[in-house]
Amino acid sequence: MTAAALSRFLGNTGRRIMLIESEAIGTVGVGEGTIPPILEFNHQLGIDEAQFLRETHATYKLGIDFVGWTAEGERYFHQFGQIGRALNGVSLHQLWLKHRSDPAVGPLAAYSMSAVAAANNRFAHPAADPSDPLSQIAYAFHFDAAAYGQFLRRYAEAKGAERIEGRIVSVDRDGETGAIASVSLEDDRKVRGDLFVDCSGFRSLLLGETLRVPFEDWSQWLPCDRAIAVPSERTEPLTPYTRSTAHPAGWQWRIPLQHRTGNGHVYSSAHMSDEEAEAILLSTLDAKPIGSPNKLKFKAGRRSRSWESNVVAIGLSSGFLEPLESTSIHLIQHGVQKLLSLFPGREIGQAERDEYNRHMVNSYDPIRDFLILHYSATRRTGPFWDHVRTMELPDTLKHKIELFRERGRVFRYNDELFDTPSWVAVMLGQGIIPDEHDPLVDGMPGAQVLRALAELRAGYQRTAMKLPLASEFINRKVSEAA
Ligand SMILES: Cc1cc2nc3c(=O)[nH]c(=O)nc-3n(C[C@H](O)[C@H](O)[C@H](O)COP(=O)(O)OP(=O)(O)OC[C@H]3O[C@@H](n4cnc5c(N)ncnc54)[C@H](O)[C@@H]3O)c2cc1C
Repeated sequence: MTAAALSRFLGNTGRRIMLIESEAIGTVGVGEGTIPPILEFNHQLGIDEAQFLRETHATYKLGIDFVGWTAEGERYFHQFGQIGRALNGVSLHQLWLKHRSDPAVGPLAAYSMSAVAAANNRFAHPAADPSDPLSQIAYAFHFDAAAYGQFLRRYAEAKGAERIEGRIVSVDRDGETGAIASVSLEDDRKVRGDLFVDCSGFRSLLLGETLRVPFEDWSQWLPCDRAIAVPSERTEPLTPYTRSTAHPAGWQWRIPLQHRTGNGHVYSSAHMSDEEAEAILLSTLDAKPIGSPNKLKFKAGRRSRSWESNVVAIGLSSGFLEPLESTSIHLIQHGVQKLLSLFPGREIGQAERDEYNRHMVNSYDPIRDFLILHYSATRRTGPFWDHVRTMELPDTLKHKIELFRERGRVFRYNDELFDTPSWVAVMLGQGIIPDEHDPLVDGMPGAQVLRALAELRAGYQRTAMKLPLASEFINRKVSEAA
């Protein structure tokens, strides 16, 4: 993603872009869920959606179905996009809070175009007419990350990036400034550079290992440190959403692609053995596994600075947050976009680095809080859940929860990724029910609100039932690919 974006935007500025990769080391080999901003990344690169779907075996994603997170047998949907429409300036979730005991009102998800389409396994692109309920559908993709990487590699090379195959075995630093001067490969080739983008994965070869930028460990809040991933055969109907199912010491993802389903069990090694985690994963697949399970180890946290000296770390080399809300690929995209907006000349200004680092901290930390919320607001019990349910929360999250608990309010700070509808869906979904609603709701006659809610709800349902099945939409779109 980094090489593709840099070659797209800097390719004709006279800069040479070199991409060093090692097939012997390979990539982490997981990562299939994304969130809506990925559309913007593909659009900026001029990638055609039909071709992208064909090359990466992608499917559409409308949100995440959270199963068993509050208690066994309960579920909720975290939708992409808005929840309903504001009436007289009052958010829909506030109207819902006041009137939810009326049986005609139904669940909050009934007011989300994405959630209603997902529940019916249907999909279409957003409508242009803002009065059409379909204008509110919002989507992202599930895709084969390895295929996306190959696709972008070809894209970057076509735009002039030079790819070098080989393993970096040593890093040379400038004796005076300490900046990275060159990296040396196994076969003694030396690659010099002015700016190094460290995309070396968990190893963080340049930023962590060489420049020793410290890692802030967040495992006291996010104790899951292992995953076992295994693909299984495709099942019907194709569901246009990710499923996340809570287990005794973590959770399991289910991500449908065109040619297979991706599955993985994320768990805490302090609370469950690898054998037990694998047994749970294999016994809960909904189709025959394809291939053997892939085991991964990680730690939640981020480097205290992503840009140090002449090294910018992007991807796992800058930090890791478990894939509960599919945010890592987004953090790569965000890191690349910020790097482009602060791209230095030959001299790198400290203000440029500071600004970049400020943005990355402001991106990582609220996502961390959002993930912690899923664990801490639960009625589940057992050693793992007792720990996460009772742990001391970061002050930032504590404040967000307290504010929501009072009157259901959420405010977005510092361009944080997840907006009000996401926080509302997960707060309510995880069982945080406000004591009161916003007093502004009381200014609207109840009968008028109930009528408006009924109309909205019926509109989403009617619209969803007219959409094609997600599988039909994908087949049609893929057949358009050049
Ligand atoms: C269990 C799990 C599930 C995930 N699920 C999701 C998800 O659903 N959604 C999401 O957004 N993200 C997800 N992620 C994160 C996602 O997989 C990564 O963000 C993404 O794959 C990018 O990884 P990367 O490029 O930073 O690192 P890697 O894929 O590890 O790539 C590192 C690259 O550096 C090269 N390299 C390393 N060392 C050297 C060396 N010495 N010499 C030469 N080359 C070298 C390697 O060859 C490789 O090409 C998940 C991660 C895990 C662990």
